[in-house]
Amino acid sequence: MTRAWIEIDLDAIVRNAMVIAARAQAILPMVKADAYGVGAVPVARALERLSPWGYGVATIEEARELRRAGIARPIVLFTPVVVEDLRAVRDARVTPALSSAESIAAWTALGGGPWHLAIDTGMSRAGVRWDQAGALVGVVSACAPEGAFTHFHSASLDDGTIAEQEARFERALAALPARPAVLHAENSAAIARRTRSSWSVARPGIFLYGVGSGAGAAVQPEPVVSLCARVVELRIVRAGETVSYDAAYRADSDRVIATLPVGYADGYRRALGNRAHALVAGGLRAPVVGVVTMDMTMIDVTEFPVAIGDVATLIGSEGSERLGIETLAAQAGASPYELLTALRARLPRRYRGGEG
Ligand SMILES: *Cc1c(COP(=O)(O)O)cnc(C)c1O
Repeated sequence: MTRAWIEIDLDAIVRNAMVIAARAQAILPMVKADAYGVGAVPVARALERLSPWGYGVATIEEARELRRAGIARPIVLFTPVVVEDLRAVRDARVTPALSSAESIAAWTALGGGPWHLAIDTGMSRAGVRWDQAGALVGVVSACAPEGAFTHFHSASLDDGTIAEQEARFERALAALPARPAVLHAENSAAIARRTRSSWSVARPGIFLYGVGSGAGAAVQPEPVVSLCARVVELRIVRAGETVSYDAAYRADSDRVIATLPVGYADGYRRALGNRAHALVAGGLRAPVVGVVTMDMTMIDVTEFPVAIGDVATLIGSEGSERLGIETLAAQAGASPYELLTALRARLPRRYRGGEG
């Protein structure tokens, strides 16, 4: 495992979760998509010491993986499933997010256990519309949900939509026969903007994994993820010669070019070519030159003492320099969420910390 790898600081994840937990009655860490690509089982195991209310996933298989690893707390499946899959949800001891009369009735008939009512207050993605929750009174009376939740569409924008969505959420809750015990709405950006959660459980995701939600946030997370690769070749490229596909980089003088065995198939995006940097020789910024290819990326190390076998840092800190996921995402024209979740593809993971 010496080609390229990601390093994940589990203790930093736990500390980030503690920052959120200090503002909330309870937390429901989102570990969907393999904990945003950093590993759902190690993350959940590390977070167990904070006694979270439960965990959030997107697929039944993600929930099964946590159950196999011995996670016994509630696991909420936030992505809707078709009715035929509800039996598998029950068998995995998962708490589904339901919102149609048909699926709630089917769940009740299966004797499925706790479920949460998904309420759409403006995301227009999943859940019953806030102004139509009253239509569910019959099925909800027959089998009351343990919880109800909504999801903010623009929590990092400070545009007033959180307040509007919460008012809609309240309106939907008032239309139910009884107020569910467990209410949740806040993602990372929403909770990082508040001194105190307004609801019973907060649902942080990306904050745990070290990505903040901009200048409006009162708290910022510690970095969690580093991406490292070894220098595997060094060459001199003469003035006028080019590097990588489409000759998108042309040397204006003789340059020393290092090849790193990491590329867009590892989640290091093609668009980072000619834009991003790698940290070498204890924290010096070497520019990525030419297009990033599927398996290799070239950097200009002309000015730096670099040898084959040296480790270059593509995400993370070295010396006093830092290459953050937010910066890279901006350089790639991608969201930090996309960049982070793409790193799972082919990179081995090295964990630090995490012992109880
Ligand atoms: C992914 C997700 C979250 C977490 O969002 P972050 O922005 O990563 O904090 C919370 N709730 C739901 C329903 C989600 O799908």
